[in-house]
Parts: sequence; C-alpha cells; structure tokens
Amino acid sequence: MKTKAAVLYKVGAPLQIEELDLDGPKQDEVLIKMVASGICHSDYSFRYGVLETALPSVLGHEGAGIVQEVGPGVTDLVVGDHVVCALTPSCGKCGMCLEEKPYLCAEMGRIIWNGCLLDGTTRFSNHGLPVHTLCGVGSFSEYSVIPAGSAIKVTKDAPLETVCLVGCGVTTGVGAAINTADIEQGDSVAIIGCGGVGLSVLQGCKIAGATTIIAVDPVPEKRTLALSLGATDVVDPNDGDAAKQVRKMTNGGVHFAFEALGRTETVEQAWNMLRLAGEAIIVGVPSPKDKIKLGVVGFFTERKIKGSAYGSSVPKRDIPKFIDLYLKGELKLDQMITKRIRLKDVNQAFDEMGRGEGARSVITY
Ligand SMILES: [Zn+2]
Ligand SMILES: [Zn+2]
Repeated sequence: MKTKAAVLYKVGAPLQIEELDLDGPKQDEVLIKMVASGICHSDYSFRYGVLETALPSVLGHEGAGIVQEVGPGVTDLVVGDHVVCALTPSCGKCGMCLEEKPYLCAEMGRIIWNGCLLDGTTRFSNHGLPVHTLCGVGSFSEYSVIPAGSAIKVTKDAPLETVCLVGCGVTTGVGAAINTADIEQGDSVAIIGCGGVGLSVLQGCKIAGATTIIAVDPVPEKRTLALSLGATDVVDPNDGDAAKQVRKMTNGGVHFAFEALGRTETVEQAWNMLRLAGEAIIVGVPSPKDKIKLGVVGFFTERKIKGSAYGSSVPKRDIPKFIDLYLKGELKLDQMITKRIRLKDVNQAFDEMGRGEGARSVITY
C-alpha cells in the first residue's frame, strides 16, 4: 500500500514529506492507521544527529492509532483496536523481559540503532530503496507496521489525538516519578526542564505525594504552565545557579531532583540540588558521548544518582494506567499540547522546538 510520511534522509536536513510503499505486517506485527503523533525532543535529537539511527528513516515515536491488519501469530489484538505505540517491543525472550523489565528489552536498543523491525528488515520503501522505522514505531506516517508487542491496546474512550503523548513523554516522565523514584508523601522534588517529559515528571510527583515541587526552566511560558500543572515554586536558571536557588528555597536541597533535558550541565545541577541522602534521577536522553563530573563527597552523604529508562514502565500495565489517570482528571495532558498540526508542517514544529517554544506539538492525520 501507499502512505504519506515524513522521512529523514540526512542528519540536519529537513524531513521530506513523500509517498512511500508500505508492506503488510509479517509474523508478530500489526499495521496501524495513525491518528496522531506527538513530536518528541528525541525526534529532534535524531534529526540533528545527537542520537543516531539508520537512515533514511520515518521519524516519530509517540504515536497512537487504530489496528488495520494483524500479522500471523498476533493473538491479543484485532482489527479496530485502539492502540498507543510503546517504545519497547517487549520481546518477552531477552533477559530483561524475563525479569519483567521490558523497558530495558535488549531488542529496544537494537531497533533504535538499526531502524528495522524485529526480523531485521524494513516495511517502508521508496522506489525499492528500504526506508527505516524509528524506534519500531515510525509515527510520522499515515500508516506504519510495528511489532505487536509495541502496540498497547487502550480504551476507546480515550481521545487518541491526546493520549498519543503516553507513547513516549508521559510514560517516560510520569513513570520516572511513580516507578523509578520512591517518593513519599510530603517529599520535596525539583524538575529541570519543563517540556513534555518534565511536565509529566512534575505531574507524576504530585500524584506520588510530593508537596514541594520546584520547576526549573528558563522559558517564562513553561514556568507558568508548570505552576498550572502543580508546581509549587519555579526557578529561572537565568537568575543565577539553579542548584543554589533550589538549596536556598528548601533549606539544604530536595529529596529528589529530576533531570529531563539530557544535558551534562543539568545532570550536574540535579546532583547539586540534593539534600543529604537525596536522589538524582536522570530522565533526559544525553548524547552517548557525554561525560559528567560529580563531587564525589556527595556519595559520602548518601546522595544517589539513578537512571530512568522509559520511566521504568511496563507498557501493558502502565500505559492503560496513565490513560486512566488522564480520564479521571488526575493527569492533565490536553494542557501540555501547545498545538495540533498537519504532517506537512513538521519541519516548522522542529524549528519552534529548537527555539524552546511550547511543550508539545501533535500531528493529527
Ligand atoms: Zn520521545
Ligand atoms: Zn526483550
């Protein structure tokens, strides 16, 4: 079949909007008609080569849509099911999947790196040239074939043009607060970076019982949005060392500091915001080349630093749970969507992201 998609041919170049050929689903795969896709900062990182994947590639990894066809071996999905696309294929066979940690599934790194589906081939092509699928999702396309394990069935009551955010940003952020961290009622937290992921961390902290929630971001509109979503205080890093400001506000530092940008300087800031025995949780995706410098004496005071992959989330358990929180009004997703756009406007949305504008743009099909 044919599908219109946004394709990255060369690092740094604009995405090309074009019609591709798409083969049908093979063993343990499903064909999805995308309804919506968020534009995540990691898409931006792939476009500019901070993160690497095989090219050409249909970008987009925060998709939601409707199952159109199921391949052989798929038993838990039927045509017409509404699904949110997860980042992990949950292969069920690797060591981490067997330990019930599918967020560290060995296949996830492999499909991000080689841009293929689990059998090592692609379904998209352009005049015979294979075109890869980012993260096994490729949601910047009207249709995509994805691993069945990445297609998480959700209730039809949930609007897909909103809950697509649960595919990446929300699960990464809310999961980091609820699953990775061990927040207790009354704890203090700081969140560095108030884009889609940071605002999800913030809301997760509130749900987990944190009562002092400090949002750190240089963009005034994002600080205002953070306050409307539950932040109790905000910090503008342009007013001086953010870590110092947070320590001063909290009489010595926070229980948990979340880094949601993937930058070395803000990872170090998170470390420097901690009270004794506090924990820094690194949520943002850094360049694989980055290295950090931490004051080692912090370990002597039982400070900890911990990574969070995909919010330590088990997609089949957590994606429906987060959507339920949204439907109950406890998780605010509509407010995080700055605007809805058409696929052809994706490059403009990247430009806005580069300028730090808005929390999340969502493509609707
Ligand atoms: Zn993402
Ligand atoms: Zn696995």
